[in-house]
Amino acid sequence: MFIGHYAIALAAKKAAPRVSLGTTLLAAEFLDFVWPVLLLTGAEHFRIAPGITKVTPLDFYDYPYSHSLVFAIGWSVLFGGVHFALKRDRGAALVLGAVVLSHWVGDFIVHRPDMPVLSHGPYLGLGVWNSVAGTLLLEGAMFLGALWLYLRETSAKDGVGRWGFWALIAFILVIYVGNVFGPPPPNEQIVAWMSLSQWLMVAWAAWADRHRSVG
Ligand SMILES: [Zn+2]
Repeated sequence: MFIGHYAIALAAKKAAPRVSLGTTLLAAEFLDFVWPVLLLTGAEHFRIAPGITKVTPLDFYDYPYSHSLVFAIGWSVLFGGVHFALKRDRGAALVLGAVVLSHWVGDFIVHRPDMPVLSHGPYLGLGVWNSVAGTLLLEGAMFLGALWLYLRETSAKDGVGRWGFWALIAFILVIYVGNVFGPPPPNEQIVAWMSLSQWLMVAWAAWADRHRSVG
């Protein structure tokens, strides 16, 4: 799942209005932020296998620490716990913990049965990625609904809040379309570095969100 995770980050603003979109984005994509670090250090693996699903050519055959349910629960508790220790906001910490865990659920819906429950199986996945139309419908509806919620919850204070935010949304959509319709990536290394660069989106989201007011 790609923009579905971003949708959860946008929608979380409704549940935790005082939390920055940068933080909700970090939570929603946390498993995918851990993943490239583990790939580059050799702890996890995937291969490029064009045709393995209709949407992504990536074969996720070994990602126990970033994407098993049991580790996802651990990351979720850790994320919520660290946020609570720093901010003392119980409600926000609970929302963020749930947002971290939502990543596993979202991936479970779209992935082939390659999502481990324990670190090495059993493997689950509903396989929405076997249909391009189904994927676009699901993720598109999630994203539009969440965008609507976020826009209703916040308003731009200035040009950064307005155009910085819309540029981020446009950027996310362009990357998404490129991922779904573009050619498969040339090698695994590039995928890892591209995923790592998603960290920039967190800074971008935090920056735009700071220029928007809630209510
Ligand atoms: Zn993921």
